Amino acid sequence: MKSIAIIGAGLSGITAARILQGHGLTPTIFEKRAVTGGRMSSRHSQWGCVDMGAQYFTARHPRFIDELGNWIAQGIAAEWAVSPYHLSSSQRLHAQDVVQRYVGTPQMSAITNFLVANLDVRLEQSICGCHHRDEQWWLENIEGEAFGPFDGLLVTVPAPQAVPLISASPRLSMLARKVRMQPTWSVGLLFSEPLATEVNAAFVDNDCIEWMAQDSCKPGRLADTQRWVIHATSDWSSRHIDLEPGEITQLVTEQFFAMLDLPPVPADHSIARRWRFARGHLDGSSGFDESLCLGCAGDWSHGARVEGAWLAGQELAERMLGALRWDMNPKP
Ligand code: FAD
Repeated sequence: MKSIAIIGAGLSGITAARILQGHGLTPTIFEKRAVTGGRMSSRHSQWGCVDMGAQYFTARHPRFIDELGNWIAQGIAAEWAVSPYHLSSSQRLHAQDVVQRYVGTPQMSAITNFLVANLDVRLEQSICGCHHRDEQWWLENIEGEAFGPFDGLLVTVPAPQAVPLISASPRLSMLARKVRMQPTWSVGLLFSEPLATEVNAAFVDNDCIEWMAQDSCKPGRLADTQRWVIHATSDWSSRHIDLEPGEITQLVTEQFFAMLDLPPVPADHSIARRWRFARGHLDGSSGFDESLCLGCAGDWSHGARVEGAWLAGQELAERMLGALRWDMNPKP
């Protein structure tokens, strides 16, 4: 039985693991955080659950459209029939758009929570070293614990974080080094008294904010309170990357009320999350080194979106099966 190590329990790593397992291989996922889902994860707290990362996703590739059909049938995704506003300091446009948007239900992380069932996932394992010896892979976590041997390795973390993990392959390291990923500060606000606005989602043309949405109006969510998620622009997030979450919440909240043209009221609860490597994309930056049975990809190699992460996982798994000369037909 061939064993494969996968670093990262985001959608790309989980997708690759499911395919490999479906073909009779033994994948093990290593994830540094205590939860799966990566940038599709949702934050749970005593005041409810909000999607602090990916807000919604679209589906264009025929294979991803098929997969989305399965997710909808399983009740873990649904269409979000929303027409976002376009807000600037001088304009409030509300044109019906034709984009079909989907979300995880009852939160974004429902999708990856469902997909990891039956997979071997090792949480809170921050991998800092990957060593290739005698045609096998050994991993090391930051506590110095070793895992292995594995016959192959897939690295599905954001490209800048992948670089030290794929140093065994100078070619793959060079590809990953070229990808620039920008940060995003994400702020969640809860109001027990709903704000008096007809805006439920908006693309914002502002130095500070690029997106705001009422998380509580997405399908499958509890609507007992009004919960907003606000994303800062990449430029603003870069300039304010080292501020404390409390300072970020204050600055973003001021702009939020200004853009909605509402008098500020205090939120009942607030939360801020810094995504250091939120978005970035370079076509053709995924790579596979057959001599090492090492692959590296993620949304950053396939379009910086949820759909791209899923396609990256598919491609990595297929290339691993090819490198191992494995039967391409899934096991019954
Ligand atoms: P990730 O989800 O980043 O998964 C990588 C995993 O690797 C993480 O869980 C991480 O903890 C783990 N990891 C990292 N280093 C290590 C290590 N050394 N050891 C072990 N584990 C490690 N997409 C859309 O389609 N629509 C949107 O509206 C949208 N909005 C977004 C808004 C924000 C603020 C952000 C941050 C992203 C958004 N995206 C959106 C992008 C979408 O979330 C990503 O494309 C997708 O989730 C990426 O999945 P992935 O598996 O490639 O990477």
